[in-house]
Amino acid sequence: MGVYTTIDPVTGEETAQYPEISDAELDVLIGRSTAAYRSWRTTSLEQRRVVLTRAAEIHREQADELAKLLTLEMGKPIAQAKGEVALVASIYQYYADHVEEFTADEPLDITGSGTAVVRTEPIGPLVGVMPWNYPYYQVARFAAPNVALGNTIILKHARNCPQSALAIERVLAEAGLPAGVYLNAFISSAQVANTVADPRVQGVSLTGSEKAGSAVGEIAGRHMKKCVLELGGSDPFIVLDDADVDAAAAAAVVGRLGNGGQTCTASKRFLVDERVYDEFVRKFIDGMAGWQPGDPTHPDTKLGPLASNSGVEELDDIVQEAISRGAEVLLGGSRADGTGAYYPPTVLAGVTREMRAFSEELFGPAAVVYRVGSVDEAIDLANDSPFGLAASVFTSDPEKGDRVAAELETGMVWINSTSKSSPDLPFGGVKGSGIGRELARFGFNEFANKKLVRKP
Ligand code: NAP
Repeated sequence: MGVYTTIDPVTGEETAQYPEISDAELDVLIGRSTAAYRSWRTTSLEQRRVVLTRAAEIHREQADELAKLLTLEMGKPIAQAKGEVALVASIYQYYADHVEEFTADEPLDITGSGTAVVRTEPIGPLVGVMPWNYPYYQVARFAAPNVALGNTIILKHARNCPQSALAIERVLAEAGLPAGVYLNAFISSAQVANTVADPRVQGVSLTGSEKAGSAVGEIAGRHMKKCVLELGGSDPFIVLDDADVDAAAAAAVVGRLGNGGQTCTASKRFLVDERVYDEFVRKFIDGMAGWQPGDPTHPDTKLGPLASNSGVEELDDIVQEAISRGAEVLLGGSRADGTGAYYPPTVLAGVTREMRAFSEELFGPAAVVYRVGSVDEAIDLANDSPFGLAASVFTSDPEKGDRVAAELETGMVWINSTSKSSPDLPFGGVKGSGIGRELARFGFNEFANKKLVRKP
């Protein structure tokens, strides 16, 4: 049987290990989730509101301790780890504040006599499959709305953040969530498949790579289970000729390097109008060079290690392949010597379509800049990607910004800003970036039974 392991990305040291559970133990877990659903779905909205509010408070009260686990398990700089915990608190609070509104009956305007309403009801036990890059936030996007709605959750987290996974279960229990409503499960991919297929389970939400998404989506389809997929991105960052170049370059650095560049909605491809290209690239490189990797436990560190050595290898393979085929290195470009999963800020130019860096996701601190001659060329290049998650457009002309937003094949567009998650904004993509939405009312409705009740 496999194990879930904490490996400090700074030292490579293994500090904790947890074995996967057996199939028999998983069966018991699914049974507990099913039993918990029967009572949780009938609890008052007030009781759910109290639990969610308390979950938000505990995140604020235990922010330091919770943040330290993120830094230990995936190398997130401590200041950013605290930011993640604060965002998570706001997500639990948001669903506490909106559960009544989101579950209110919606009367329909009908022809004929009588009444018709649409009720929003839970559907049952759900499986969550989550990645390591925002260990608390990814889970909160799925858990908070579904706990609020009355569903129950079996959560399979990434195998390199088991202590963060256990912390989530503990915090929710401390917040007063009844036993069985949220269950952490250290399980294998094969066991995920069996859980999704189990007739007691009604849906699955996965955040992760396209490979994992298509594997789980296929099983969900075969067993006719509702599924939400939040997958990768290669977000374009478009700088038009009338943009505020200083503001764009400053935003580009944060958009590329925040969370070590390991964010699905990180800005990854920089498409810059030729009239401002030289100025933008100079300022962007200066800014990127200022984020040298350091100790993630230090409060001033902005760029830590990547989450794992395998993450460094995967990123470096794509960068080296581009260089060997003729890409130009404007900054960085090779992995650091010594221990630790460190990778320097890297900027490539001259990337062409036959290179992996053109179409694959660069999950780390490496950017690709492209020179474009017109707005249309920027839009075409932005859409020339298997992904469609988020995009940024920098321009001083609001009409141009709207036009570009209308043409982009993405789930989210940010004008004069990089992508930032907030509980009240829907989050999700199109094309290879996934299916469905999380957060806001949209995320609440994904695993809801919109039940029609018609009366004569
Ligand atoms: P990953 O390898 O796909 O893993 C994500 C989760 O899926 C982990 O829990 C993993 O378990 C599990 N998994 C992998 N293959 C599976 C399978 N065949 N069946 C069932 N479960 C499976 O992704 P990652 O490397 O952790 O995360 C990075 C990726 O996530 C990037 O592509 C990033 O863009 C994407 N992401 C997307 C969003 C979004 O909202 N769109 C947000 C964050 C990240 P194990 O750990 O046991 O392998």
